[in-house]
Order: sequence, then structure tokens, then C-alpha cells
Amino acid sequence: MASVFGHALVGATLSKVLDKNQMKLLLVLAMISAILPDIDVLAFKFGYAYEHWLGHRGFTHSIFFAVIWSGILSLIFGKSNKMIFFVVLFLATISHAVLDAMTTGGLGVGFFIPFENTRYFFSCRPIQVSPIGISKFFSEWGVRVILSELLWIGVPCIVILFFNKITQKFSTTKKQYS
Ligand SMILES: [Zn+2]
Repeated sequence: MASVFGHALVGATLSKVLDKNQMKLLLVLAMISAILPDIDVLAFKFGYAYEHWLGHRGFTHSIFFAVIWSGILSLIFGKSNKMIFFVVLFLATISHAVLDAMTTGGLGVGFFIPFENTRYFFSCRPIQVSPIGISKFFSEWGVRVILSELLWIGVPCIVILFFNKITQKFSTTKKQYS
């Protein structure tokens, strides 16, 4: 995993940029969806090995899971905005796996589970892998993770949010004067 902060920030950014109506509920669900795949660390407690399809970075990190999860949420919460809920939540959920595939450690990501159990990394892996467990996070390792995420996730997200804000302001000013 990247840390919960890195994942949640990407979820929030996707919602802010893609949702013209700026729905608070969608923002919150996008942040949750971007963190959720790591719920599979519980699999260790149930005795599943990392490389098992239900193990860490397995099923809940797959494209299949992202489709099912965002489909269910958009049906429950989307009301008249089901499509934008689905798009934002799918991208937020799968963004987690994409970031994980760019980290320096662990096993790769099972993007194609349940159809294929191969674990994948991208060739570009600049993000420091985050420790599993809170206690280990408060360490030198945790500091390295935060710094690496600030650079590779924080800065891009903040730049995107900044330009998004400016274009929104610009389009509302244009509307006022047209
Ligand atoms: Zn993960």
C-alpha cells in the first residue's frame, strides 16, 4: 500500500475534478473507496498467504472488485447521478491498485483476479511502500513514506486541484458575463 493519506487524497481529487455538482456524499465515498482495498490485510489474520487470491493486494485490489463495489454504491447512493457516481467511485477504487503497483515493495497487484492470479507492478515504481500496521508507521520508515507520497501523490494532486479551481472560477465568471 501507499498510506491511507495518499490513497484518500487521490480519491478526493478525482471527485473534486470529475463531479461538476461537487456532491459531498460522493467526495466521502470516493475517499473511502480509495482506502477500502487494503481491508484485505485482514486476510493475514484468517491465515491467507499474501499471494492467495484473497490475500493482500489480491481480490479487493482487482478491476473486477472495483466494478462491483462502485456499481453497488452508485445503485444505493447515486439516485439521479448514478453514472457520475459509478465513474468517480470506480476510478477512486482502482486508483488504489494503480498506486500500489507503483510502490517499492510487497508483492504486486492482482489486477485481473478472479480471472488470473498473477501479481503486477508497473515499471515505474517511485512510491515508498507503506508499512502494514499503525505502530510501524510511526517510525523512520513512516517518515520516508510520507515524504515520498508528498512528492509523487501530494504535489500532483494539489497542482490538479489548483488548476481545477481556477478553471471552475473562470467558467463561473464567464457565465456571469455572458
Ligand atoms: Zn493496497
